[in-house]
Amino acid sequence: MTRIIAVTNQKGGVGKTTTCVNLAASLAANRRRVLMVDLDPQGNATVGAGVDKDELAASNYELLMGETDAEAVRQSAVDGAFDVLPANGDLTAAEVALLELDHRERRLADALASLAGEYDYVLVDCPPSLNILTVNALVAADRVLIPIQCEYYALEGLTALLDTIRRVQQTANPSLEIEGLLRTMFDPRNNLANQVGAQLLAHFDDKVYRTQIPRNVRLAEAPSHGRPALQYDRTSRGAISYMALASELLRRERRAATSA
Ligand code: ATP
Ligand code: MG
Repeated sequence: MTRIIAVTNQKGGVGKTTTCVNLAASLAANRRRVLMVDLDPQGNATVGAGVDKDELAASNYELLMGETDAEAVRQSAVDGAFDVLPANGDLTAAEVALLELDHRERRLADALASLAGEYDYVLVDCPPSLNILTVNALVAADRVLIPIQCEYYALEGLTALLDTIRRVQQTANPSLEIEGLLRTMFDPRNNLANQVGAQLLAHFDDKVYRTQIPRNVRLAEAPSHGRPALQYDRTSRGAISYMALASELLRRERRAATSA
């Protein structure tokens, strides 16, 4: 069964792309078949996976516009660890162009349908906005993973995101669930980070991953080498923590499957 996870938070710079690329690499290292979908015109996930965003014959723009199929867009990440549906600045135009198309919220879901069964996990990196691209990710997804940087304004945008998720549940995708909330760039010595972390646990309980991603310079350096941290420095705290996240996610899923 393919599980599609949208990595979303409309707040910028909270670690969505870092999570997408490194979780993709970590699930692949657990021998899961993984496809990463870049739905952000910034193309950071594409670059982070080692794909040249300036040399794309076809990208997610053409895919969403129905001008090509997923097969033609698909590329291999560095070392072939996982597959990528890449994006670049062209995707900016999709935000407007999609509004004129039928089924504009379902374009990604429809495009991914042809790949169903080829992957265990599809991870979708969303832009820092609750726009039509993010809605496409939420409509296509089974689950939402929300990275959160535990600082003062962290919870402010969460209400708007949860409202959007609820709206998608009530309309296009009733089975959409929250996969989990992930504390990123977490510094346990910082009082505020601990307070916000505790608030998250109080509100969302076991939806908050026990794994916390620390601030780690290797995670920030790896994209400039076009590699996930696991391939750039597998002994780094960043690489190890994303491996721990993959283990936690897989463990939770096994537990859910046995209790179902
Ligand atoms: P955007 O909203 O612009 O898409 P984002 O939510 O995808 O941003 P990232 O690009 O993953 O966030 O991270 C923002 C910046 O912080 C990047 O420079 C990234 O390398 C860095 N970063 C992310 N996570 C960590 C971490 N755990 N430790 C150190 N640096 C990190
Ligand atoms: Mg990003």
